[in-house]
Amino acid sequence: MFAAPINRLITELARLPGIGQRTAQRLAFHILRVSDEEALALADAIREVKEKVGQCEICFNLATDATCLICQDERRDGHLICVVEEPSDVIPIERTNEFGGRYHVLGGALSPIDGVDPEDLHIGELLERASSNGVTEVVVATNATTTGEATALYLADALRERAPGVTVTRLASGLPVGSDLEYSDEITLGRALRGRREL
Ligand SMILES: [Zn+2]
Repeated sequence: MFAAPINRLITELARLPGIGQRTAQRLAFHILRVSDEEALALADAIREVKEKVGQCEICFNLATDATCLICQDERRDGHLICVVEEPSDVIPIERTNEFGGRYHVLGGALSPIDGVDPEDLHIGELLERASSNGVTEVVVATNATTTGEATALYLADALRERAPGVTVTRLASGLPVGSDLEYSDEITLGRALRGRREL
């Protein structure tokens, strides 16, 4: 229907989450309409983020240096580690202003059906961190989904074995069941953090 380069752009845009075919077409025509400068700024931003953003070598959060800004911040409480599935889950927890500790990003949740086993996630590194450096509590903030809950239980067992002195807690219920942390509002999430209970 369109010239090949336009089709290519529409196809790429339609691969983005939440963007259907019609929205992709609308965005493509918007990009065609704006100045070269404006359109290429988007292309450059994508290139830059892929070139410069990597993983923190301590917590696996997003980082532009060897370590992320949270790991670099000496005011953060190193006794407390909050475990999340994805880097995007750090943001809603930070927004609650209820958590002053550090993070550990697993890189997903356990799901044997999809072939995600413990060695596919940053679980070994978490056990390593938890069993050293004076860590006293690990808050498991995986999603309230089947895989998130299974991951929480697995971590509680593994931590009890490898770091027996560390208290393992889970966010209090109140988060919508089956939901991703990313979509919870900060009041609900803040309450869930304050009311966390031992696993
Ligand atoms: Zn970090």
